[in-house]
Amino acid sequence: MPQRSVSLPVCTSCNRPVMPGEKASKFHCPSCQQVAVWRCEKCRKFSRRYKCVNCGFEGP
Ligand SMILES: [Zn+2]
Ligand SMILES: [Zn+2]
Repeated sequence: MPQRSVSLPVCTSCNRPVMPGEKASKFHCPSCQQVAVWRCEKCRKFSRRYKCVNCGFEGP
């Protein structure tokens, strides 16, 4: 039985869960370095903006 306890990261731009194997990117907020920002494949493709939940930094 596979364990389902692993919670998926959520895309910071669109709030959808990032699926394993997706070409998502994860990086830390360039402003405060405190928050891990996730961007799913689609948001990367369309260069959607993200907003840091910690400091409010917005970036492409
Ligand atoms: Zn997204
Ligand atoms: Zn930040």
